[in-house]
Amino acid sequence: MTETNKPDAHGAPIALSVRDLTKHYADAAHNVFDGISFDVPKGKVLVVVGPSGSGKSTLLRTIAGLEPIQGGTIALNGDVIETGQPGNENSGRVKRGEDLRTKFGMVFQSYDLFPNKDVLGNITMAPMLVQKRKKEEVEREALELLDRVHLADRAHAKPHELSGGQRQRVAICRALILHPEILLLDEITAALDPEMVHEVLEVVVELADAGQTMLIVTHEMSFARAIADRVILLSDGGIAERSDDPETFFTHPKTARAQEFLHSFD
Ligand code: ADP
Ligand code: MG
Repeated sequence: MTETNKPDAHGAPIALSVRDLTKHYADAAHNVFDGISFDVPKGKVLVVVGPSGSGKSTLLRTIAGLEPIQGGTIALNGDVIETGQPGNENSGRVKRGEDLRTKFGMVFQSYDLFPNKDVLGNITMAPMLVQKRKKEEVEREALELLDRVHLADRAHAKPHELSGGQRQRVAICRALILHPEILLLDEITAALDPEMVHEVLEVVVELADAGQTMLIVTHEMSFARAIADRVILLSDGGIAERSDDPETFFTHPKTARAQEFLHSFD
């Protein structure tokens, strides 16, 4: 066991370990974040909150390997998979081995489904192309996943025939079929009509109950409070407050910054 995957206080091994992570975009005046550290235990949910522009999306993108980092380390199950290179500010996907690429599943705010493929085609494409899995096996699993997100009857619908909430649930299936170690969700309900938010969040709660390790960025504070095992507040390039007792964080935040942030949702 290495330094970066010691079990947490409750005995769960650490799935993701971020140490002293520093991110800078070329030509930007400041680092987006400057040496932040946190862990996500296996099977647990870390919720990341923070004001717009505080670096939440950047954080998920660096973890997913979609952006290089300029300092610190990212470790998965105890193995360091990326070490920051000062000065390497090129944007674009970081070179990681094929097996590492599918360890992180990401769902974004805007559902980017392929418009001319049906639901099944959207979900099965990556496992067939990237993982070279057989069509029949992948389709069977896709149908099971659709059933889990309550969309078993929409397998042959095209994206434009679905509601926003249904499209996000398809996007979740598309991420899950690659069997990611960690699911990264970036404000996946932010672009939805209010009546569709619940059906998507319900699916995320079911995934958490099933033990899916997740890192979730959200502006839905009641959802965050309900689902988080741990929470961090990103602000001004750092972690302004962190807690492994989300109930206390949301009801009795310690720092003035967290109090001010949470009050903005009242
Ligand atoms: P959040 O998701 O919390 O709103 P972001 O991660 O999108 O924050 O952005 C954090 C900071 O980095 C902002 O100041 C933003 O303008 C900047 N930023 C985000 N993406 C890029 C990029 N591709 N190039 C340069 N600056 C960026
Ligand atoms: Mg964002």
